[in-house]
Amino acid sequence: MQNNIFSLLTPQLQVFLITLAGLAIGSFTSLFTYRLATKQPMIFTRSKCLNCHVNLKAINLIPIFSWLMQRGKCLNCHAKISLRYPLIELSFLGIFLLVYFVLHKEINSKMFLYLAITTMLLAMIIVDLEHYFIPDVMQYVLTIFVGLLVVFNDNFSLISALGNGAVYVLFGAGLWLFFYFGAGIQAIGIDDLKFFFIAGILLTLKNFIAFMIITGLIGVVFGFAWQKIKNDETFPFAPAMCLSALICMLFGDVIKISEWLGKIIF
Ligand SMILES: [Zn+2]
Repeated sequence: MQNNIFSLLTPQLQVFLITLAGLAIGSFTSLFTYRLATKQPMIFTRSKCLNCHVNLKAINLIPIFSWLMQRGKCLNCHAKISLRYPLIELSFLGIFLLVYFVLHKEINSKMFLYLAITTMLLAMIIVDLEHYFIPDVMQYVLTIFVGLLVVFNDNFSLISALGNGAVYVLFGAGLWLFFYFGAGIQAIGIDDLKFFFIAGILLTLKNFIAFMIITGLIGVVFGFAWQKIKNDETFPFAPAMCLSALICMLFGDVIKISEWLGKIIF
């Protein structure tokens, strides 16, 4: 086991730190996804109430707690504060704790990269759900984190990493053809194909079948629900891709879809 400063902490303290990190990064992500998508400056601007533009103080920005204490309303103008903020913070809290337990409670560089990749995947889902696109900068940052994770793997090979990416892109192109000629909808865009390349490098061929099936399932269920609720022909595809990538990254060793399929077929 790797020895670092975190391994000296008690399990309770470790969970406490992960909880704080999840809430803080969740809160930060709810802010930066909003500013990135609406093209507002990232730094040097105070957080304001969207309705009355009063500057928010630190006490108004405590994840979940502030929202609950203010009963979901601005203290100045009493306008409703969107549920998105506490929901995003809670999702980050839950998923950070999940990553911590899945990685056997060892806080090390691998866990930091997993948390960073998780953050980018969730941020992409949020922006795509709210604004129907994936900002390029998020894909670049995700590429850096995924690159760091695979390069420091003992049996890293650049050729096979690029090959894995290419196989996933081919799958994405296949999906595009399927949706385009099968249903006449343009569900997959160029942003999605870029994402498939990064997913291939992250997940390798080992997870290819699981990724295909889970992406397809979430895509169909979510797409159907989206069209029912929103009454909208196009639907954001990032939730299916990013959730599928997250599930395969965390549970790839447990989900043996090709083995299960083999048992069903033979
Ligand atoms: Zn206000």
